[in-house]
Amino acid sequence: MSARELIVLGTASMAPTRHRAHNSYALRWDDQLILFDPGEGTQRGCTLTGVSIAKATAVCITHFHGDHCLGLPGVVQRRSHENEATERPGGLGPLPVFFPADCEVNFDHLLQATIFEDSSNVVKRGVSAPGRQAMLGPFELRAEPLVHRDTTFGYRLQEPDGFSADPDRLAEAGLAGSDVGVLLDQGWIDTPAGRVTREDVTVPRRGQSMAFVMDTLPCEGALELARDVDLLVCESTYLHEEVELAREYKHMTARQAAELATEAGARRLVLGHFSARYPTNDVFSEEASHFHDDVIAAEDGITIPVPHR
Ligand SMILES: [Zn+2]
Ligand SMILES: [Zn+2]
Repeated sequence: MSARELIVLGTASMAPTRHRAHNSYALRWDDQLILFDPGEGTQRGCTLTGVSIAKATAVCITHFHGDHCLGLPGVVQRRSHENEATERPGGLGPLPVFFPADCEVNFDHLLQATIFEDSSNVVKRGVSAPGRQAMLGPFELRAEPLVHRDTTFGYRLQEPDGFSADPDRLAEAGLAGSDVGVLLDQGWIDTPAGRVTREDVTVPRRGQSMAFVMDTLPCEGALELARDVDLLVCESTYLHEEVELAREYKHMTARQAAELATEAGARRLVLGHFSARYPTNDVFSEEASHFHDDVIAAEDGITIPVPHR
């Protein structure tokens, strides 16, 4: 299978620090490359981690606080530049950008923030209702409303359920090589011993999924997005000793993120969006580890694999 991994471009909430750029993530998922919440510094973060903005296939913005979108102008202008330079016929193709529809004015301002010739081929995809927003290749992109100080949507990428060939059953049916491909494609194949169907030699395989939840209080939408996902990226602005502050600013603590992941049945939890009051990130994974058994506190520049099936 092709790579499925999260590349962490930045982990800071409101104020970037010496060691944290603004919140920003890239998700490599087979032939998709999706940028989530491109905060300030995203363009350089991509350069440092080897993420090609030219290869981005979509951008998802949860809301328009600066730490989630100030990098968008850089991404779009880089895309424009790469589009002019590409020798690919027809250019780089459209780049859909998903964002809360009732903040379209903020989106427009970001795109028009500086002078440049726009050949980015960005396609506006305002999100105004929960549920399916688009198919990105064979994968469904869904959105659910979150509870923050301004309109905010979280996202979920979902692979459809499928099937996997069982090597023992294939051997039993005497099938190998190109015959297996034919059987999987057309659903059946005739052999000297009789007809073999796809159901005879495969087992069901649950589609993989990833959810992106920030910024928000713990809420129904977050739970819905995180339900049984393989990888949950969740905000963890504060430690739980500051739970009152989190409530006031409509954010989550590391403990709340882990409780959400556990209740939802999420397999791996990645924490991000850290307040500048905490100099190191490991305090977040330490706290969350008491409530979920696969927690990673994101660090700028690291790559986190989606756990295998
Ligand atoms: Zn934020
Ligand atoms: Zn915010």
